[in-house]
Amino acid sequence: MLKNILLLLGSVGLSAAPLLAQTPSIQNTNSGTDKFAQLGTELPTPNTFRTASGAPGSQYWQQRADYDINVRLDDEKQAISGTEDITYTNLSPDVLTYLWVQLDQNIYAENSMTTSTQTADLQPRMSFGAMDYLARADFDGGYKIESVKQKGGKALSHVVNHTMMRVDLPQPLQPKQSFTFSIAYRYNINDQPKLGGRSGYEYFPEDKNYLYEIAQFYPRMAVYDDVNGWQHKQFLGSGEFALPFGNYKVSITAPADHVVGATGTLQNPDQVLSATQRKRLAQATSANKPVVIVTQAEAEQAEKGRAKGTKTWNFVAKNVRDFAFASSRKFIWDAMGLKIEGKPIVAMSYYPKEGNPLWGQYSTEAVAHTLKTYSKRTIPYQYPVAISVHGSIGGMEYPMLSFNGYRPEKDGTYSASTKYGLISVIIHEVGHNFFPMIVNSDERQWTWMDEGLNTFMQYLSEQEWERNYPSRRGEPAKIVDYMRMDKSLQTPIMTNSESVLQLGNNAYGKPATGLNMLRETIMGRELFDYAFQEYARRWAYKHPTPADFFRTMEDASGVDLDWFWRGWFYTNDRTDLAIEGVKWYTVDSKNPEIENARKRQELNAEPKTLSQQRNLQDIKRTLVDNDKPGLKDFYNSYDPIATTEADKQRYQQYVKTLKPEQQKRLNEGLHFYEVGLRNIGGLVMPVIVQMTYEDGKQEIVNIPAEIWRRNNEQVTKVFVTDKPVVAFTLDPFLQTADTDLSNNAYPRKLAPSRFELFEQQQRPQSNPMQTQPSATQPAVPASSGATGGGTN
Ligand SMILES: [Zn+2]
Repeated sequence: MLKNILLLLGSVGLSAAPLLAQTPSIQNTNSGTDKFAQLGTELPTPNTFRTASGAPGSQYWQQRADYDINVRLDDEKQAISGTEDITYTNLSPDVLTYLWVQLDQNIYAENSMTTSTQTADLQPRMSFGAMDYLARADFDGGYKIESVKQKGGKALSHVVNHTMMRVDLPQPLQPKQSFTFSIAYRYNINDQPKLGGRSGYEYFPEDKNYLYEIAQFYPRMAVYDDVNGWQHKQFLGSGEFALPFGNYKVSITAPADHVVGATGTLQNPDQVLSATQRKRLAQATSANKPVVIVTQAEAEQAEKGRAKGTKTWNFVAKNVRDFAFASSRKFIWDAMGLKIEGKPIVAMSYYPKEGNPLWGQYSTEAVAHTLKTYSKRTIPYQYPVAISVHGSIGGMEYPMLSFNGYRPEKDGTYSASTKYGLISVIIHEVGHNFFPMIVNSDERQWTWMDEGLNTFMQYLSEQEWERNYPSRRGEPAKIVDYMRMDKSLQTPIMTNSESVLQLGNNAYGKPATGLNMLRETIMGRELFDYAFQEYARRWAYKHPTPADFFRTMEDASGVDLDWFWRGWFYTNDRTDLAIEGVKWYTVDSKNPEIENARKRQELNAEPKTLSQQRNLQDIKRTLVDNDKPGLKDFYNSYDPIATTEADKQRYQQYVKTLKPEQQKRLNEGLHFYEVGLRNIGGLVMPVIVQMTYEDGKQEIVNIPAEIWRRNNEQVTKVFVTDKPVVAFTLDPFLQTADTDLSNNAYPRKLAPSRFELFEQQQRPQSNPMQTQPSATQPAVPASSGATGGGTN
């Protein structure tokens, strides 16, 4: 067992332990940097809008934009045309003379800055898809702005600057005033599988139908706030969106045989849904498993027809930052009700038959699971619906609605990675309702603020979905390969969204892992969970910045985390702690009988040198051994470590001078280990030490990162035990993303590896459902009309 009292004494710091402070030690040198300095100049100065505690200040304000939109989806030309009234309310203390509007579709315009600034290199082998993408000039994309007018009035002067448009106000907009203006526009929808994008259409050649996942489909107000003024940084593709909250009234006119799903609540079900569909939808709201509203059989029937007329679907969404929709005659539609803190919510999915059987079985369940798990740890979900749509887009989020990829093989089988990929992407994209749709950070500046926090929450939700769920990100060990990379391939997390290298690792994986490390190792679950939830409570339906997050996490937990933000978020340093060596001491008992016996043992254990060994063979007899015994004297038989009576008496005398507790110490038989620790990676981290005793028992000591506060490269730590330790291991449960485990053990351990011998050949893709069909029947046959049970 570890001796805690002594350990405490030892950790007071060597300057306070006079008996150990004789020689200058590592503890009394510094490494030249202060990794525990507070984030002073790095963070903005607190003010009345944003406090030093990380909460919104007493004068916090944010703007508001309400929309009334009419759009028409042209299924013949794959185009959108629309008109919108934007009512912009100036809740800032400032007078505005112009407004900035985002024209995200212009990312596909002829003069697109995204295209012109895109860098690439050419390889001798190029896929047709890659060539299509490079030579995509034939797509006539971008907004065609037809008019910008004061509502019901005269034209407004406006200037388009790539993806931004400045609208000049006829007179300055005073604080607390609103201004309503109208924009008429149209654009051609991008072929998403070919051109990429966060929205677009997918064409299905077999049945010649289109499936539309539509977003950024209307000119949207930019954010004006106390941090940036107007957020009019161009949309280049990576930095997503910064949008103000408001209410939306959206009418979508689509072919009459399309099924439309959208952000918000459908206002006219009687006009767009059949009596059967309305009945099924009503049943779904109280069902505890998905109920199909449009069955696969019905969707397959619809695929064959082409309606002549149109239907207009009216939706209303309150207090959202954006609006998106999906439309196709291919859609199967299922739904299930759930309640969060008494509030009824409908989880829904829209997917083509190509998504089954996976989609019917998992999508809506994953939506509901996400809402429940996130609500528990952040704030309760308050929107009326949450939707998962399946098309070609791999994963993209909007308020109440997300687009998600992953579909099974044509034969209905699928690999484990497809199944878990599907569930994970749905949890992730639905989870974005919380970050950034509700906790509305500025995605154009900071990808990590929504992706990182959301990926962390996704990990927690996945682990609640299924024991040992194969989460891709979250566990510290999973980020190690990235952290180990050459630093020129990395950027700090605190890098603008458009300039980040390796977006997935940098803005999703690393921050998510960092939060998990804070929760499990640095802060503990209780302190972390409270602080994280407090951040969500403080900033729900508001616009937080990184400083607001950093400050809230500290303020609500009482844990100084500046060193962690500094290391993990502002640098590319990595964790690599090492045990350099261990010195082992026991107490000299001064008892000649004990100590001399020990010395004898040590002497006997000393190895004979090579010469000594050879001489034993070669020199049969030495001079004094045999030929000249007269050369021997006292010293030839003197035993310097024999215990004499005088030794014993001296010992007895000494013991008498000691107090009883000192006598006890002398005979306790304690073991002292001075463990030399080195920080090779640069990142300061808690030191987690596992000691394995001679009897096989193990013990863990968790030392906070503050052990590095004076010297952050090298420290020694003394452990006092009453049993001999045979091994020390750092971070045995892989909590700190240590990038080199080979220096974590003392004595060093051999780690077995294997060579894989191979001949050049392609490894087959793993889909055990195809190779073992009898063992793994899909729950629902791909061709069946029933998708996920319930009534149909
Ligand atoms: Zn995301």
